[in-house]
Amino acid sequence: MKTVDHMLILDVDGVISNLKDKKSNPEVLRYIAKELRNGKPVALNTGRSTEWVLERTLQPLVDDLETRKYLKNLIIVGEKGGTWMDFDENGQPQDHIDKSISIPQNLQNDVRSLVNSKYSDSTFFDLTKRTMISTEMRDGYDMTSYGEDQKLLAPQVDELIRKYQLENVLVVEPNPIAYDIQNIEVGKHLGIKRILNWLKDKGMKIVKFTTIGDSPGDIKMAQELNKNNLKVRHVHVGKKGTHEDSYPFEVITTEREYEEGTEDFLKGLPKSK
Ligand SMILES: [Mg+2]
Repeated sequence: MKTVDHMLILDVDGVISNLKDKKSNPEVLRYIAKELRNGKPVALNTGRSTEWVLERTLQPLVDDLETRKYLKNLIIVGEKGGTWMDFDENGQPQDHIDKSISIPQNLQNDVRSLVNSKYSDSTFFDLTKRTMISTEMRDGYDMTSYGEDQKLLAPQVDELIRKYQLENVLVVEPNPIAYDIQNIEVGKHLGIKRILNWLKDKGMKIVKFTTIGDSPGDIKMAQELNKNNLKVRHVHVGKKGTHEDSYPFEVITTEREYEEGTEDFLKGLPKSK
């Protein structure tokens, strides 16, 4: 068993990448790369597909041959725990999927037609998802106008879920740039279970975790770790005032928001070697 003093677990959108243009903050990426090179595990826990995260969020890190061999210290949990990706000794990605979580094809088809016929200016249907449905704001689109379209889309999606009598199996989860339809079992807490299993397989024991998120649902990461009697603090970089006052662990709110808040928080951490 190898003991590691600290591990970072980060959401992706609005924590590493900018919500509007979806570009990664270079300082945050640099910090992640440094942790990996120092032999510290890092986890990303997101609703996105692992493929998307690898190609869009982490591209500079994956392109860097020096960092590539340290990717074995990284796990990407996608689709809120439905899929996950880790890396072999050579930095080659290994894909994993929980086949018990899926969305019926007929509902996928109906939601895709709805988005393409009525909301294609603002929204696209994410074809890379394998265990959930995500409809997402087009890159660079005005977030307020997208929000208006999302409000119109929501009741129509509800109607489709009722059409297939899936109300007890599926839930919807909106965020500022996407509208997700997912199995009731998935969420940031399921992502944590994948991460803990991965650590166990690697024979790693973590003294303290830091989870970073921008949405109210991201607090589930810290709650799940706390439930497992693990030491954790949560950093909230999203809109202020979206949390309850007290949790059985420390919650830090950053002054600047989103990926800039993450950058500020990471810069304030003691420098690792
Ligand atoms: Mg987010």
